Amino acid sequence: MNVNYNESQRNRGEARWSVDRGVNVMVVGCGALGNEVLKNLTLMGVQHIVAVDFDHVEIGNLTRSVLFRKTDALEGRYKTDVIEERLLELNANLDIKTIRGDVAYDVGLGLIRRMDVVIGCVDSQWARFCINRLCMRAGVPWVDGGINELEGTVRVFVPGVNCYACNLGPEGLKDLKRRAPCMGFIRRHEEAGTAPTTSLIASIIGAVQVQEALKLLQRDALNDGSLESLCGKMFYYEGEHLTTRLVDFQAWDDDCVEHECWEPVEHTEVHREMSVGESLQVLYKELKAQDVEICLRNDCFVDFVSERATDQQWEVMLPGRAVESFVEQHERLSGIPLSGLYQHEYRRIDSGFPYQGLTLAALGIPEQDVLCVIVDGKDRYVEMK
Ligand SMILES: [Zn+2]
Repeated sequence: MNVNYNESQRNRGEARWSVDRGVNVMVVGCGALGNEVLKNLTLMGVQHIVAVDFDHVEIGNLTRSVLFRKTDALEGRYKTDVIEERLLELNANLDIKTIRGDVAYDVGLGLIRRMDVVIGCVDSQWARFCINRLCMRAGVPWVDGGINELEGTVRVFVPGVNCYACNLGPEGLKDLKRRAPCMGFIRRHEEAGTAPTTSLIASIIGAVQVQEALKLLQRDALNDGSLESLCGKMFYYEGEHLTTRLVDFQAWDDDCVEHECWEPVEHTEVHREMSVGESLQVLYKELKAQDVEICLRNDCFVDFVSERATDQQWEVMLPGRAVESFVEQHERLSGIPLSGLYQHEYRRIDSGFPYQGLTLAALGIPEQDVLCVIVDGKDRYVEMK
């Protein structure tokens, strides 16, 4: 799982990297930065790539996204579908998996646990916060990139050493949680990066991100000092005056709730197409427990929304994140805070949950997720099939 360069090249100071075929890299966000990162990973010889994005290709993306074409935008294709096709043109043997969805909810922790490194190419604090949380739970390092006009930054977060949430500080975190989260919020922020210089800055920052991601996999070279990771510092680039800076950027507060590492992970036969009732029966047996609660740790499940003024009620049966778009379709519900509309909001699923026939997928649980379950008052973690 290492990226190696051969001894003689190291001695000559000409580190030429070759990527181990087993390396797994996930890229979150397939915008301008994501395009550059995915292109570089493929050209560097990374064989196993997972790409995550929820959006379509639009005409506005074309001037700064090397992998997109005009026809993709005109046909309204999903970015992930296009990425898969174009990367396979660069390397027909590439093993690429794509997830059309939102990193906050649609990426299973079991999949992240299989990654050697995650690269964040997102443009909102909330999306970064979500990547950080998942990577901390899975014990996987991640590399963040941010771009704006001709400025960009790269940061590296390694569980146990540096944490995005800790870097926000208590006030920043409170502010983030107050404003967050809904799909609309993320979408609006993803539309940033419209400056004509975006392609330039995306090339520079995307390249540094891939360089730092591959470095993280060379543990021997990092340990003996022949390579140095950016972890603990932030790389800052400003193109108008061609300034670069490395500034200290490290925070790890032992009390931070985002550091919860989900270990040990047990395995279960439960999968997302199973009903709640069936899943609970399997878990009772596997975990040798009388009672098990499945915690929805990233979202909730909502059965009805109601407009109190008229007592009108709608059956929604949706994960909490999907209720916002339901509300958008019903004008009279707009302006009311979502929590004020919910009739019931379920965060723990057990034998008392009234909809035992619903599948785990209907509750919003993604493929290959790790479930947090409470057994005899203790948290346990089980990875789904
Ligand atoms: Zn933290």
